Amino acid sequence: MENLQYTRNWKQKDIVVAIGDTRVGRGDFLLAAGPCSVENSRQMAGISDILSGTPVKLLRGGAFKPRTSPYSFQGLGEEGLKLLRQTADALRIPLVTEVTDLKYLELVSRYADVLQIGSRNMAAYELLKEAGRQPKPVLLKRGMAATVKEFLYAAEYVAAGGNEQLILCERGIRSFDPEFRNVLDLNAVTLLKRITPFPVIVDPSHGSGRADAVLALSLAAAAAGADGVMIEVHPSPGTALSDGDQSLDPDRFRVWAKQLSALARFLGKRI
Ligand code: PEP
Ligand code: MN
Repeated sequence: MENLQYTRNWKQKDIVVAIGDTRVGRGDFLLAAGPCSVENSRQMAGISDILSGTPVKLLRGGAFKPRTSPYSFQGLGEEGLKLLRQTADALRIPLVTEVTDLKYLELVSRYADVLQIGSRNMAAYELLKEAGRQPKPVLLKRGMAATVKEFLYAAEYVAAGGNEQLILCERGIRSFDPEFRNVLDLNAVTLLKRITPFPVIVDPSHGSGRADAVLALSLAAAAAGADGVMIEVHPSPGTALSDGDQSLDPDRFRVWAKQLSALARFLGKRI
């Protein structure tokens, strides 16, 4: 791919992203999990119970939600950031949460350890540039209709701006088939792992839209060479205010954590 500044080559080692004690890339495999959105303190206490003592090393969750419909739950805002921070601190793991707009960057930075830039904002170039100028690691999700090349250019807006602590996330692309919300593009994972030095993780929750597909796709992502997997989990998915259909319940979560960490270790990764 022409005109990329960040390419894998024999001179340069792959980039490791360090978030406190959590590392991702170059052999360190990341399990990240949490709710789609923060709803209330009872839900977050449930999340804490589910994640505690598991190999999950990064809490995810949305306080500012980029919803397709303006009539869907938009998130709790700063109240949600506070609940996320408390939960991450109680679990002693770092927190990733989304910045949906430049105007929230400073506020979200006060609570988050990693700034997520979502699919709908992958090509928000001013947001990418600003993320490149600030010191926190960035998790950049692929746009739902972005080519791999467009994704890599978006990544370079952040990296060339001065922030090389960047994790790329494949989260599924649009297709013609309504059976699944998106098609998880594991082709792209194999390509990205060949050409980019940044760690690549996979989100099979948004990538499929179905809780019953998440385990198989997580294992497939690890086998395809991903450096980690990020999923949505909920104490009672049936009552979730967003993305309940794709959120693992506590039983499914336990099987997921066990099988995915076992496979990653088998593949020679550190968990
Ligand atoms: C999310 O991870 O919370 C999210 C909204 O995902 P995406 O940007 O991939 O749709
Ligand atoms: Mn979601």
